[in-house]
Amino acid sequence: LFEPWEVRTGKGDPYRVFTPFWRNLSARGEPDAVLPAPERIPPPQHWPAGASAAALGLLPTVDWTTGMAAAWQPGEVGALAQLERFVDQKLADYDEARDYPARDGVSRLSPFLHHGEISPRQVWHAASGRPGAPAFLRELGWREFAHHVLFHFPHTPTAPLNERYADFPWRHDYHALLQAWQHAQTGFPIVDAGLRELWHTGWMHNRVRMIAGSLLVKNIRAPWVAGARWFWDTLVDADLASNTLGWQWVAGCGADAAPYFRIFNPVRQGERFDAAGEYVRHWLPELGGVPDTRIHCPWRLSAAEQAHCGVRMGRDYPLPVVDLARSREEALAALAAMR
Ligand code: FAD
Repeated sequence: LFEPWEVRTGKGDPYRVFTPFWRNLSARGEPDAVLPAPERIPPPQHWPAGASAAALGLLPTVDWTTGMAAAWQPGEVGALAQLERFVDQKLADYDEARDYPARDGVSRLSPFLHHGEISPRQVWHAASGRPGAPAFLRELGWREFAHHVLFHFPHTPTAPLNERYADFPWRHDYHALLQAWQHAQTGFPIVDAGLRELWHTGWMHNRVRMIAGSLLVKNIRAPWVAGARWFWDTLVDADLASNTLGWQWVAGCGADAAPYFRIFNPVRQGERFDAAGEYVRHWLPELGGVPDTRIHCPWRLSAAEQAHCGVRMGRDYPLPVVDLARSREEALAALAAMR
């Protein structure tokens, strides 16, 4: 929307906190209008020899892209259709619906924005002035903030912005747990559902990104960079600025981050944002018969209940890979040790 060097604090420094950054941006008024498409793009005088797309052998030999192909229509046409549908049908309810992963309440424009199939100014001007716009435009503001932070602090994809966290005592033996997390085998349904959504479609709902990230960084205590790397490999919207800001937010070590001591409880988060378990049942059909009261904590089903709802814990669906209460205490102790 604006160049990252144009936005500065009163002292001329870059921002590290979102709210004053957003206040500054909002005070600038509307971003410039979208430029019209050029009438003509002059070709180069001499074309390079080039290679055919087929010769590059880019397509996978094992077809793992079916889920992604069904979820997205890449290109400008798909981007504009998605924007129009969102603005006409979803924007008015965005603020209320955006936190519920089972609801079709967010724009899913992130991959198009990342790849430049649509510009943030196009999105801004399509939404601005409509009911529901303020909450939505604020999210575009977070994207802007992510690019501002990356521009001014280019070391942050691999190092914490808050330097105190450079010495955080991450667990050393996290690799098997990281693999369980990557493979959607943590035993926490809302987390595993998110990781399956990611693997299948290349996208994960923002609320679930925060819950899944928190489990990895705080309960498993794997370094946030390991989570960021997995998202980098699997997201269709993988974006160095937003991914870095997101993971440092989850880990509590970035710009305007959630404090490290605030640890999401995946059971309570699931009960709050997926109360009827619709999202979980969609991505984990093996839990289809589990009642709502246990859908976010199926390990609490008795043997008789497991038989009744057709799932055997530890066989059809994994038992939790960490004890939530104990791992929470260990995370808080690690924070205290760092301090
Ligand atoms: P909407 O809710 O419709 O928001 C509209 C647009 O605003 C998005 O397309 C996006 O461009 C921007 N936006 C919304 N939330 C954020 C945010 N928190 N930070 C920055 N921009 C935001 N987003 C990416 O685009 N690429 C990433 O690699 C990425 N990695 C993330 C990693 C973690 C751990 C977390 C917690 C968040 C990450 N996000 C990332 C931010 C956010 O989850 C996605 O932008 C959002 O879910 C995309 O869905 P949407 O287009 O429906 O968003």
